[in-house]
Amino acid sequence: MPHCVHTRRLLREHGYRVTPQRLMVLEVIRAADRHMTAEEIHSALQKRYPGVDLSTVYRALRLFVRLGLVEQHELGGGRRVYEWRTQPDHGHFLCERCGRLEHLEGIFLEPLRLALDRTRGYQVRRVEVTVLGLCASCRGAP
Ligand SMILES: [Zn+2]
Ligand SMILES: [Zn+2]
Repeated sequence: MPHCVHTRRLLREHGYRVTPQRLMVLEVIRAADRHMTAEEIHSALQKRYPGVDLSTVYRALRLFVRLGLVEQHELGGGRRVYEWRTQPDHGHFLCERCGRLEHLEGIFLEPLRLALDRTRGYQVRRVEVTVLGLCASCRGAP
């Protein structure tokens, strides 16, 4: 796994110990290829490391967010999810009925970035948006 070599180096460069638990937290997120809460990561991890506690997961997540390996998104209502950092900028759509969480690619965010630049003079570093509503199938359902 090339990312593993990269991760070990990154951790060492920043003076962090490379523990198997830390690497496993990252591996769970990468393999999942979806959004996960800290609790979901914790229970997936427990299958391999039965003794690992939730605070270890939280500490590892904070570290990986700081190092830019993992993205953390606040979805409102206290819901916080993590995902492997794949795309530079993306928003989220959260269906309020079925809980489906989908990505909004850059094509949706670029107009906002441009509009803020032109009309407000903002230099946007990063767009983090969560759109709430009904997904296409929930919208059609009675
Ligand atoms: Zn839905
Ligand atoms: Zn996402």
